[in-house]
Amino acid sequence: MTDPGALLDPPNRPCAGEEIYNLAARLFPICRSIAGPGVRETLRLLSDWVPLQFHEVPTGTRAFDWEVPREWAIRDAYIKNAAGERVLDFRANNLHVVSYSAPVYGRFRLDALKPRIHTLPDRPDAIPYRTSYYAETWGFCMTHRALEALPDGEYEARIDATLAPGSLTYGEYRHQGETDEEVLLTAHVCHPSMANDNCSGLALLATLARAIVSRRTRYSYRFLFAPGTIGAIVWLSRNEAVAKRIAHGLILAGVGDRGALTYKQSRRGDAAIDRAIAHVLRHCAPSSRIVAFSPYGYDERQYCSPGFNLPVGLLQRSPFASYPEYHSSADDLSFITPDSLEESYAIVSAALDVIESDKRFLTTSPKCEPQLGRRGLYGSLGGRNTGGADAMLWVLNLSDGRNSLLDIADRAGLPLASIRAAAALLLEHALLCPVPEVEAPS
Ligand code: ZN
Repeated sequence: MTDPGALLDPPNRPCAGEEIYNLAARLFPICRSIAGPGVRETLRLLSDWVPLQFHEVPTGTRAFDWEVPREWAIRDAYIKNAAGERVLDFRANNLHVVSYSAPVYGRFRLDALKPRIHTLPDRPDAIPYRTSYYAETWGFCMTHRALEALPDGEYEARIDATLAPGSLTYGEYRHQGETDEEVLLTAHVCHPSMANDNCSGLALLATLARAIVSRRTRYSYRFLFAPGTIGAIVWLSRNEAVAKRIAHGLILAGVGDRGALTYKQSRRGDAAIDRAIAHVLRHCAPSSRIVAFSPYGYDERQYCSPGFNLPVGLLQRSPFASYPEYHSSADDLSFITPDSLEESYAIVSAALDVIESDKRFLTTSPKCEPQLGRRGLYGSLGGRNTGGADAMLWVLNLSDGRNSLLDIADRAGLPLASIRAAAALLLEHALLCPVPEVEAPS
């Protein structure tokens, strides 16, 4: 048996981090919102990496307690001073406009305009990111320093945008595996120019999809690129039957900053994905953190709502809203690094390897240990120092049909890779046999 976990071979992939970073940099300039041309442009770009199927859901379509919103398209926005100079320019940074702003055009005294201008007084050189999806309004965002420098007087303000019926767009790619049971991997596509939030997750997910497209896998894989919250809600409302087949799921968001990895467990807390990620983090990223589920954050709020309660966790680096660059222009391409993206990619790949290869076996000699020395097996995996002989003894002892390879690895405190290698060798020598999955006790 070859190593069943060699799904993605992360150590052998050259510079996934650079590749992911470069894709994030291409996604960065696009002005995205929850529905409109920015989402489509992003998905078209991602289609070069993964053969996405586009879904368009018309404005007004009901999705549980929600409704598909109008599309937002923005062409230009500015504030001009009396001399006609742009003191705020959407073309320089798309964060300058409150996302989903209604159009406006008029002349305003600075005092009248100020309540419409959002800044970050404690980070005076960063432009905040603000949205107003579900209450129609308009507004601008700028650095506090630039606002402070504006002299009193009259200004011309314009937001050349359209809020109109259209459709919400999401992109999907499904890879067929040996079984119809699915792994859902998703990232949200709804933010304008911020690198960690959303570009890093989108780029990592697309790179992962491209690696899986040509692989033979045990599970089927569904890659979903959808706007946050409303996208997940719309997808779930249209895919209740598919949702029943989701065996494992992972949301990728904010995976490129320099902070340590943070995994947020599914609502179940003990799902296979929770255990797989915990195993990989324990052995490969010891400075990482695992946090329990909470009903705020990203789309785990929807996937883990009680009517679905799917085994879907969230992988990020610094937790959202915990870092000063969060939701501001400081979350730019210098805030993410190829090394961080590389590590995030390797951890996701390794966790998928765990899920793909976590099977149960039965020892063929349950009454006392089989004689390994006679078969030349004792020390054949490198002796005790590498855990080789120990791994074999753990596999033989715990392979009573109840314990999976991951159960054994966790109980032995060994990386799954060594448990897998031991199992492969024991299978070769007919000291183990597979347990048909349908007969495995739960
Ligand atoms: Zn965000």
